[in-house]
Amino acid sequence: MKDCIFCKIIKKEAPSKGVYEDDLVYAFHDINPVAPIHILIVPKKHIFGIQSLEQEDEHIVGHMFYVARKIGEEFGLASPDSTKGGYRLVFNVGEHAGQSVFHLHLHLIGGRSMSWPPG
Ligand code: AMP
Repeated sequence: MKDCIFCKIIKKEAPSKGVYEDDLVYAFHDINPVAPIHILIVPKKHIFGIQSLEQEDEHIVGHMFYVARKIGEEFGLASPDSTKGGYRLVFNVGEHAGQSVFHLHLHLIGGRSMSWPPG
């Protein structure tokens, strides 16, 4: 998509601090972090958001969660066999939920404890 900031980041036409990349996704630090660690996991395919997800793309979302698990481990936020630590994974879906970039992305937020419910 021509005017999509995340498409530009994926194509390296806009700057980012990358932490992971493969054929399906690119992950990079959020420019305006809400916690000590705030990473966005973004599919290379332009998908508007969860509200427009097609069944043919459901494997991409599954992969985004698997990459989140790998990043969470790499950054020392969680380990597979412990209740300690942790992080939050968030999809904001539409304006009421706070979605501001309409290219699907999974927030990985960690490095501090968090409250529930979210605001
Ligand atoms: P959302 O509000 O769920 O759509 O999340 C969009 C996120 O993208 C926000 O947390 C922004 O801080 C982040 N963001 C917007 N532009 C950039 C950028 N150029 N580089 C990194 N993160 C960005």
